[in-house]
Amino acid sequence: MSATDITGGRPVVTRFAPSPTGFLHIGGARTALFNLLFARHHGGKFLLRIEDTDRARSTQPAIDAILDGMRWLGLDWDGDAVFQFARADRHAAVARAMVDGGHAYRCYLTQDELAAMRAEAQAAKKPLRIRSPWRDRTDGPLDQPHVVRLKAPLDGATTIHDRVQGEVTVQNAELDDLVLLRSDGTPTYMLAVVVDDHDMGVTHVIRGDDHLNNAFRQLPIYCANGWPEPVYAHIPLIHGSDGAKLSKRHGAVGIEAYRDDMGILPEALGNYLLRLGWGHGDEEFITREDAIRWFDLDSVGKSPSRFDIKKLENMNGHYIRAAEDARLAEMVADRLGLAPDDARRAPLLAAMPVLKVRAANIGDLVDGAGFLFVSRPLPIADDAAPLLGGEAPMLLARLHAALDALHNWDTEALEDAVRKVAEDAGVKLGQVAQPLRVALTGRRTSPGIFDVLILLGRDEGLARIADHIA
Ligand code: GLU
Repeated sequence: MSATDITGGRPVVTRFAPSPTGFLHIGGARTALFNLLFARHHGGKFLLRIEDTDRARSTQPAIDAILDGMRWLGLDWDGDAVFQFARADRHAAVARAMVDGGHAYRCYLTQDELAAMRAEAQAAKKPLRIRSPWRDRTDGPLDQPHVVRLKAPLDGATTIHDRVQGEVTVQNAELDDLVLLRSDGTPTYMLAVVVDDHDMGVTHVIRGDDHLNNAFRQLPIYCANGWPEPVYAHIPLIHGSDGAKLSKRHGAVGIEAYRDDMGILPEALGNYLLRLGWGHGDEEFITREDAIRWFDLDSVGKSPSRFDIKKLENMNGHYIRAAEDARLAEMVADRLGLAPDDARRAPLLAAMPVLKVRAANIGDLVDGAGFLFVSRPLPIADDAAPLLGGEAPMLLARLHAALDALHNWDTEALEDAVRKVAEDAGVKLGQVAQPLRVALTGRRTSPGIFDVLILLGRDEGLARIADHIA
């Protein structure tokens, strides 16, 4: 079934509707990605709505973090972001029209009466379902405090043909007359979502399955207004590697932590999130173009997917190797705080092909590039210092002499010279290579020593060796 079939010929419109009460987390980012891909696949629109109606908990830094995270991940929405709170008058107008049309009513239940109902439900061990005596009355005094409630259907059942969850049915008797407008006249979340989705022309509501229950409370609002129902697709939440719902306990959940602390590339995180709960055959590495070509809701898994940081890192390594050297060098320079005209940018760029083959994240690149930025005498790591003892000064002296005599400072010449020193001394190559590595980098691990020698250049290379000759 194509998407336009289901929407009766309306062009596909999806949306991402985050509440700016915290940062953009990976679950939200994946929801946004699925919405974007579905819209692009069908040549439709992907909209963004900031659900900032909870004034106490919505913050500007959270809004900024969400927009920033979406841009970083290339989750480009169409048009301007819609801010829900700014539309409160429209929401209220819809509620009043619903009262006029007999689909909602003014309810004057007092706090005490509500408390009594709550106590009664508790005593009977039943969930609280408000059945207001005001449902069929129209004689309430307008100037007295009241809320506006939906006149929800009392009998029958509501069925949702969810594109991910399948057919889900709830008995209407289980739903209550939810509040649309509070006594201060402000709209509730349930009303605002429906009015906004309708006004924005949203045809497909793709969101976390923690909202499935809400769909049953939102549908009657569409019906009451005679608006076309959206197609629903409720996607399973992301769980941690231990199977529990993903939370702070599982480490970084905010997008910016993946970028700033973990050095993940946006295309790697995007690809990983895509594969988390959706698949196309055995494809692992999927470009955005292919994702748009292939994405469909039918291949979204029904069970929660587990977040696996190791997989993400592997994927990141793949994308680092595929990334342009200049882009990576820029990211590393940024982390090191190098000025735009810093002379060390050139060797950093030159080192990138060597550094990126062994990096799983940007931090590894920064770490690997460290030897370029230290000045003599090099600090020697504690675990590397012993490698400079014993025979090492003698071997390094021989190496210094052999390398100093070279005409060509290239891999072949360097390798021949180092091998010959080892042979002449009657030791294995490693016994020469290890102290050489420590002398050049101060560490036990580094890129290949011949690469290191070339990147440092003859003068600096020889000088670092000379520092450790007895
Ligand atoms: N604002 C809701 C949230 O952040 C999403 C509402 C929706 O997608 O309908 O969970």
